[in-house]
Amino acid sequence: MTLKLFNTLGKNKAAFTPLKAGEVKMYVCGPTVYGRLHIGNFRGAILFNLVRNWLEKLGNKVTYVYNYTDVDDQIIKKANEEKTTATEISERYIKAFEEDFKRLGLKKHEFNPRVTEFMPQIISFIDGLVKNGHAYVVDGEVYYSIEKFKDYGALSGNKLEDLNAGQRVEVDKKKKSPLDFVLWKPAKPNEPFWESPWSKGRPGWHIECSAMIKSILGDTIDIHGGGIDLIFPHHECEIAQGEGLSGKKYCGHWMHNEFLNLNDQKMSKSLGNIMTAQNFMDTYHPEILKYMMLSLHYRSSFNVNNERISNLVLALSRVYASLKNALNLIHDDKLTFGKVDDALSLAIKNADAKMIDSMNDDFNTGEVMSQIFEVVRTFNNLLVTKGKNKNDLKASAQKFADWIKSWGALMSLFQEDPNKFISDLDEMYIRLKGLDKQVIIDKINLRLIARQNKDWAASDKIRDELIAMEIEVFDSPTGMTWQVKRG
Ligand code: AMP
Ligand code: ZN
Repeated sequence: MTLKLFNTLGKNKAAFTPLKAGEVKMYVCGPTVYGRLHIGNFRGAILFNLVRNWLEKLGNKVTYVYNYTDVDDQIIKKANEEKTTATEISERYIKAFEEDFKRLGLKKHEFNPRVTEFMPQIISFIDGLVKNGHAYVVDGEVYYSIEKFKDYGALSGNKLEDLNAGQRVEVDKKKKSPLDFVLWKPAKPNEPFWESPWSKGRPGWHIECSAMIKSILGDTIDIHGGGIDLIFPHHECEIAQGEGLSGKKYCGHWMHNEFLNLNDQKMSKSLGNIMTAQNFMDTYHPEILKYMMLSLHYRSSFNVNNERISNLVLALSRVYASLKNALNLIHDDKLTFGKVDDALSLAIKNADAKMIDSMNDDFNTGEVMSQIFEVVRTFNNLLVTKGKNKNDLKASAQKFADWIKSWGALMSLFQEDPNKFISDLDEMYIRLKGLDKQVIIDKINLRLIARQNKDWAASDKIRDELIAMEIEVFDSPTGMTWQVKRG
């Protein structure tokens, strides 16, 4: 089955065919860097990381460009508030973004262009639009003339007449038409500016992406991504600019991810309803953020709340618990690698077929995850089935662990050392439940002593105290282990 993608342009699912077979040019609108990014901003980064990995798996060479908007009103405002420069603000938050990105273990993009580094290309792009009549100059400002681009509205499904009718009456006198958008504007006092044929100023927002695309990837790209809020006007304007200059198709496939809500409310800075990715990763774990984003289809809106996170943690810890059991068998030197169990081979074969189809079906990651759990269940069943040959189990464990890791790699998931991940989860639960780890360890040690002294009454009493603190204790012939109660 070939890859099918839902294309916002045309609103249908269609076979994905890059302009040049075997090569994919992909661009995703990156962040405006004036603050730490919230988890919603990372939905796109996590999705398109998978998109690029899957395209590579299908044999394509992918060039993925993800830009930083490092000049913008909000950056300048923040710089003024902090009495510093826009450059200092954007540098700081690009670093912060890169720190979060690295912590998530996502694959580096081929290019991270910044607006400030693409001024000559942006100016020459605008100049081209002025020269071919798609843009006009008024008092040092340059506007794109919507009337010159008849396909305006095709991506968002907006009709020009409706858009015009929706405009307020008191429009900017400088514009020929109310929908015309700015390509270049003169700088206000104390704002950063660049020399241009029109004024000392800076570009409008939309032009940066078109200019970066043209200079890094060319006139036509294969995939353009971003959040749904960018469809209109940003991406609509990008098409008008790109096609207005080149006369060629700007982009073959438009992919837009739905929004993430927090506690049933839109996650947005202006509403103060955000959770930064850093805060999420400090509170929970980077793995949980990635798993959360991919557990549901990217075109579904997604509500994050405590209950949902708890359920996701439980599911994720089931995968890691099985990986831990697999690792114990793999590292058992008394065993040799026997024959992989037929039931596991069959489960993997079935899951592989379904997962490939699901990935190719517009990245149906929810289904991919449920297939992973099918295989986890089969492997767990093997471990508890009586009479299985231990050497065969070791071979099955290796196959299971390799399989999880290779699918996981596409999603940048399941690559953690299971022992480390499970102990990270314990630390997380200790934090979330407000427990004192030293108190737990002291009680565990007291219980060990009680057991050595065969003082079963004391041992049981301490166990009850631990249970009351939501600590589960497991006694086995090799010793005592404990974990914080999940959920
Ligand atoms: P911004 O910095 O606001 O331009 O946003 C950067 C990217 O994050 C854009 O692609 C937005 O569409 C996306 N985005 C912003 N808020 C959310 C959200 N709550 N859920 C998902 N994506 C979002
Ligand atoms: Zn953009």
